Amino acid sequence: MAIIVQKYGGTSVGSLSRIEAVAANIIKTRQQGHQVVVVLSAMSGETNRLLDMAYALDKHPSNRELDMLLATGEQTSIALLAIALIQRGYSAVSLLAHQIGILTDNHFGRARIKSIDNKRLLQSLEQEQIVIVAGFQGVDIEKNITTLGRGGSDTSAVAIAATLGASECQIFTDVDGIYTADPRVVPTAKKLDCISFDEMLVMASLGAKVLHNRSVEYAMQHNLPIRVLSSFSAGNGTQVVNQNNEEWLMKRQNISSVVHQQQEVMININKITSNIEIAAIFSTLAKENIEVDMINQSFYSAQDEDVAQLICLNFTIHKRDQHKVIILLEKVTQTYPLLEINVVENIAKLSVIGVGVTSQVGLVFSTLAQKNITISLISSSEIQISVIINEIDLIEGLTALHNAFNLTLLT
Ligand code: ADP
Ligand code: ASP
Ligand code: MG
Repeated sequence: MAIIVQKYGGTSVGSLSRIEAVAANIIKTRQQGHQVVVVLSAMSGETNRLLDMAYALDKHPSNRELDMLLATGEQTSIALLAIALIQRGYSAVSLLAHQIGILTDNHFGRARIKSIDNKRLLQSLEQEQIVIVAGFQGVDIEKNITTLGRGGSDTSAVAIAATLGASECQIFTDVDGIYTADPRVVPTAKKLDCISFDEMLVMASLGAKVLHNRSVEYAMQHNLPIRVLSSFSAGNGTQVVNQNNEEWLMKRQNISSVVHQQQEVMININKITSNIEIAAIFSTLAKENIEVDMINQSFYSAQDEDVAQLICLNFTIHKRDQHKVIILLEKVTQTYPLLEINVVENIAKLSVIGVGVTSQVGLVFSTLAQKNITISLISSSEIQISVIINEIDLIEGLTALHNAFNLTLLT
């Protein structure tokens, strides 16, 4: 008898009939003799509905109160699932994060899990209960409710699986595994049997929302395999594993996937005269914990100015930080009044991921050039190359890269 941790996402519990289907799946696992811990998301659309209500009242609602509000979505779904299981004659208990001591830091809206006290979980399992835990939420040291960031229930599940010493964490979702590209955008994308933690971490960080990036980080730290499966159909899904895993070593591809992301805006600043101004810009943002993603600076000749060359700076930030960043940059212009600040919306980031990407950079550029797609920013690492393009070119660019790297031919 093993402890099995299963997480079901929003679409998987999006209606009462879906909750009944999930209950049936859990019962099947229980009947195989396993102890089951289930982590749930809110019903699909619920977190957005709650957010819309908050923003209707205040364009910049308090982060603490937002977390208090958003955490209610998961409270509903866990209680409904427990009711469905009890109705079927099974002993089940739903638990909120504070009831099982999921302690986080106090970064409302993107809190990190620090520890989980597994006493209550183990007690309930010993009493043969199916334990249903609210994903996405935690509690800080002052007992404020926190949330882990959109998609954070994956991280709750992996953290709980690690705490309980489970041999794998099963993430049930609305696709049957991890694909070479988002299968909803690139229909020719292929399902992978397994992928390494490193590749998946880069994929998730660059926008593949099939797994929350911190869930992969956590799984990697604890060497805990994740399996992504469909809650709608049977199958083996995709395993996310350590780089020493034999199956991965046998099946690994030089390029594993292409990923897209539409969550960023580009900040363009012109008329910079020196590095001192650039330092002032980034230290102002850093003080407020603003994450800057891609950065590029270029020089252009000054006309009618006292200096020979001016600097143009472009960088990307998450859309959620746009308002705050503009306020911060306006403060910088009090010291440097000549700076010209623009926000470029409607951009998309495309990334090619795989251990062999550094030797194939040329193919990324030639493929996009053939499609007349303009690149505004570039970044790369050992395992990834990313470009910022106009959002309107997203599907064409993503499909072209997917074809160019032969990902449609993977078996
Ligand atoms: P859940 O609500 O179950 O957490 P999510 O919407 O967060 O589900 O994640 C599943 C979605 O991730 C899929 O519907 C798919 O559109 C998207 N996705 C993005 N990239 C990939 C990929 N490479 N492989 C599979 N799914 C992907
Ligand atoms: N309900 C949260 C969200 O919609 C958390 C999750 O689904 O993982 O982002
Ligand atoms: Mg998700």
